[in-house]
Amino acid sequence: MTSKYQTEAKGYTMTTVMQEAARCLLCEDAPCSKACPAHTNPAKFIRSVRFRNIKGAAETIRENNALGAICARVCPTERYCESACTRAKIDHPIDIGGIQRYVTDMERKDNMQILHAGKPNGMSVAIIGSGPAGLQAATTLLQKGYAVDIYEKNAKAGGYLTYGIPEYRLPEAIVEYEVQRIVNLGANIKYNTTVGKDVTMADLKSHYNAVIVAIGASEAKTIPMFEYNICTESAISFLARAKESEGHLADLPDNVLVIGGGDVAMDVVTTLKKLGVAHVTDMVYEEFAEFKASKKELAGAQQAGVTIVDGYEPTDVHENKVTFKHRKIDSELTITADKIILAVSQKVNAAGLDIDVQHNEVPFREARFHTKDPKVFATGDIVKGDKTVVYAVQKGKKVAEEIDRVLGGQDND
Ligand SMILES: Cc1cc2nc3c(=O)[nH]c(=O)nc-3n(C[C@H](O)[C@H](O)[C@H](O)COP(=O)(O)OP(=O)(O)OC[C@H]3O[C@@H](n4cnc5c(N)ncnc54)[C@H](O)[C@@H]3O)c2cc1C
Ligand code: SF4
Repeated sequence: MTSKYQTEAKGYTMTTVMQEAARCLLCEDAPCSKACPAHTNPAKFIRSVRFRNIKGAAETIRENNALGAICARVCPTERYCESACTRAKIDHPIDIGGIQRYVTDMERKDNMQILHAGKPNGMSVAIIGSGPAGLQAATTLLQKGYAVDIYEKNAKAGGYLTYGIPEYRLPEAIVEYEVQRIVNLGANIKYNTTVGKDVTMADLKSHYNAVIVAIGASEAKTIPMFEYNICTESAISFLARAKESEGHLADLPDNVLVIGGGDVAMDVVTTLKKLGVAHVTDMVYEEFAEFKASKKELAGAQQAGVTIVDGYEPTDVHENKVTFKHRKIDSELTITADKIILAVSQKVNAAGLDIDVQHNEVPFREARFHTKDPKVFATGDIVKGDKTVVYAVQKGKKVAEEIDRVLGGQDND
């Protein structure tokens, strides 16, 4: 039986997508287009939808985004395209993400082949990491005629698309489909291969014309007092286990305490409720007005029945008992739970890769993704900029274009 954890919200039908597209004002010099980090042009694809030209709409989406079906589901559109939408001044913004989902669902259903590999140019690139940044970089390079090998330490591709974002927001089947299209273009993914352990950076540098490091921030940060606490698990470990078990975790307790107030914390608490945990308490350092989580994710968690307490930080922990102190008022709380989950951000682990990582980011020159080694480039969450899927896509495309510029590929003839 499909559980709440596995059930994605329903998308538009042909009739309802037409109704939503009809609300679009088809603005001149559309502000929604300028506000997309990946430079997708919603005004153009919505116009195609209005003319029932779904293939044309899919072509517009795929121009700059190999992961259009994924971004349609997980992009924080309220921060990007929809925040700029002119229609918001009349009633509410156009549901750009929802229309993009309809178009890419039709693209998948009708097996449209929109992306094509370029004529081979005799050069090759190794990409370390198959998250969204690595996958987009691979796509752009394949379109320019490069041979591409992706080295991935896990058994599946996708990075946090596969091992982080919960199934009810991003079904694994969608990620698998997007990855398969990139494999069909010619990407060769070497699974279960950790660069720095199974293969050395020196090997890659000697075999390829360029190397891209797209390893993301794959390690959980912690709070020192929780480091060796046996009742504590990190958010990314819990979410990966929930996804891998398809929502059938064997060790689910009745009472879970979560610490953290960002979008990852909201994914943890909502997942716990969808899996049937009776009591979920989320203790958050920030006060409600300063919350890092998106309003949509916060509202979802509250609707699911999570108790969210703002403004408290942990001061002491003994096994499953945690004491918190309010940051501003004189108030102390002690909470006992069966399990504690820490959702206090992620950090980069570049062990064995011989690249410079400072303050959790690789310093790069001239916003062109070079590292100190002229053959090695960095992209995705490990470089400066927003840490979202759509930014990873933008940075993946840009690093590929920079490599093509440096190597003088066919586009530079
Ligand atoms: C729980 C969670 C929910 C999120 N929800 C959203 C959301 O709703 N919307 C949104 O826009 N963003 C979301 N994000 C952020 C988004 O997922 C990241 O910004 C994005 O995945 C970064 O892409 P990336 O390619 O840089 O890195 P990653 O996705 O982290 O991928 C890096 C890949 O590199 C591999 N790797 C690492 N080291 C090595 C090595 N030495 N050798 C070989 N392979 C290696 C890893 O296994 C991984 O597959 C979420 C993140 C998390 C954790
Ligand atoms: S800004 Fe809004 S109304 Fe204008 S073209 Fe974009 S989606 Fe349509």
